[in-house]
Amino acid sequence: MLEIVSFTLGPAQTNAYLVADSKTKEAVVIDPAWDGHLILAEAQKRGWRIGHLWYTHAHFDHIGGAGAIADALNPLPLVALHPNDHVLWRAGGGGALFGFDIDPGPEPTIDFVHGMKLRLGSTEFEIRFTPGHTTGHCILYAPSVDVCFCGDLIFAGSVGRTDFPGGNWDDLVKSIKEQIFTLPDNTRLLSGHGPATTVSEEKLNNPFVGGV
Ligand SMILES: [Zn+2]
Ligand SMILES: [Zn+2]
Repeated sequence: MLEIVSFTLGPAQTNAYLVADSKTKEAVVIDPAWDGHLILAEAQKRGWRIGHLWYTHAHFDHIGGAGAIADALNPLPLVALHPNDHVLWRAGGGGALFGFDIDPGPEPTIDFVHGMKLRLGSTEFEIRFTPGHTTGHCILYAPSVDVCFCGDLIFAGSVGRTDFPGGNWDDLVKSIKEQIFTLPDNTRLLSGHGPATTVSEEKLNNPFVGGV
């Protein structure tokens, strides 16, 4: 069974998700936002082994906890990110613009590709390429549990900013319509900021892309 522990961490109040298969105890961190020691302590308390870090995109507030997590693990966790965001990752996620110098942790070695399938215990995750907030933004959809980790693509009642370098409004709207609004209505959307929502709720009520 898939278990999800969520945290809201750091200067941008970013959601990090510690996700594990309760049977195999394998765990991944989706967007290790900040304060990696807190995420690590929770995993250790539950007897989970963090093997991977999966990044929806490389903004500093989504990867700021990676260094602290990796420092405590042997072997190092494998990091997955879309190649279009590697430049942003190398630039510390753009944190310098906001006065933050982060430890970005291990170099990403797994390249997300649209349609790629990743497995965590008995749960399969499908990678969907969703540019707009950054050029390499991806979402992670787990159909068997009706959950989609959607990073900064869409939020409850809002959408991701497109005014940072690499942002593009038309791409963002296209990504939402083609990759979020095509998911089953009851799919839970776990975003990078703010509360969880659902596909049907955002289709109906999102003031930016809703009313469809
Ligand atoms: Zn972002
Ligand atoms: Zn963010």
